[in-house]
Amino acid sequence: MDVRPKRIVFAIDGLVQGVGFRPFIERLARQHGLSGGVKNCGQSVQVEVQGPALAIDRFRIEMQTESLAGQQWAVTAENERPVALDSTSLDFSEPGPGSTFKISPSVGIAAQRLPLVADRAICAECRDELADSTNRRYRYPFISCARCGPRFSIATMAPFDRERTTMARFPPCAECVDEYESIANRRYHAQTISCRNCGPQLQWRDSQGIASGLLDSLQSDLLQNDRLQPDPLAEAVTVLRAGGVVAIKSVSGFHLAVLAANAGAVARLGKLKNRQRKPFAVMFPSLDAVNASCHLSTAEEQWLTGPAAPIVLLDKRVGGDLTGAATGAADNPRIGAMMPACATHLLLVAALAEPVVMTSLNRYGAPVVCRNEIAIEQFRGQV
Ligand SMILES: [Zn+2]
Ligand SMILES: [Zn+2]
Repeated sequence: MDVRPKRIVFAIDGLVQGVGFRPFIERLARQHGLSGGVKNCGQSVQVEVQGPALAIDRFRIEMQTESLAGQQWAVTAENERPVALDSTSLDFSEPGPGSTFKISPSVGIAAQRLPLVADRAICAECRDELADSTNRRYRYPFISCARCGPRFSIATMAPFDRERTTMARFPPCAECVDEYESIANRRYHAQTISCRNCGPQLQWRDSQGIASGLLDSLQSDLLQNDRLQPDPLAEAVTVLRAGGVVAIKSVSGFHLAVLAANAGAVARLGKLKNRQRKPFAVMFPSLDAVNASCHLSTAEEQWLTGPAAPIVLLDKRVGGDLTGAATGAADNPRIGAMMPACATHLLLVAALAEPVVMTSLNRYGAPVVCRNEIAIEQFRGQV
């Protein structure tokens, strides 16, 4: 076994912001007993490790295996440096409790040039927690982890650190801080970490844009009581089932929703969006529901459930659930299908248990709406 010490600096290029890259590298380095660090350096990320040659070989193999597993980054350079006599003389490592591998804070204008990844669809682990009544994030509509959740849509600037996102307004609670700081935790260094106690909350507003609980002081007092607080998702389900249009603000911005099977509601949405000809994409509660309406191949199934959560154009099933539905174009033989990408949408379509037309609230050519007041002003009385 080659245990001679070596010191290697790797340059990593690609999409490394907001994909849990730095925590992944730290975990891997510690597993192999390596010291060193990881930091943003202009266009790339630098990983420096020092330790037995064999351990570095294993570290390299596992790092490259991960980069082949659907991650959009790659090792682009590798340089050997003279071994540092003590780990404090490594470029950016300082001895910490129990380890000498360190994630350096992103600094400098150079780091702002790192590309940022798109939002990532809710991962399998977060889905499980969302459905687990014993989990502290059970049915929490803004659940996410280091591997999934909003990225691009909440970033105000690169690199992707919490203080440069719209999450900066929600300081994490003590429990979330514990998870953020625990290397074994899936939310270690997860910039979007939040929970019911500290993160954003859903709120129901009526078609005049008035939030429940703010009607008047008396009612407001009554609504302080949790039992009387209307459940925003339940309210949305009621309105949608009655054929209404609901505007939903989630991590990925504002959307308008109607039941896909309700031709009248879809037509109203078409008028609202000034889009009577072009069909709308449909969000399905499950793959079974997609299958009931469309022909679905294995490849299409994988696209639908992938981290990018794209809209996949599928052939309508003749005699399927949405045969007669006017999803904006009844005679169109195809449906733009998608799966819920965030917990808010997931909880909503799961509660409805039927397909929903979900479209961006933004009008064609108009600036992106991100403030509640503007959305309310534009759609007052109609949604
Ligand atoms: Zn997740
Ligand atoms: Zn919290």
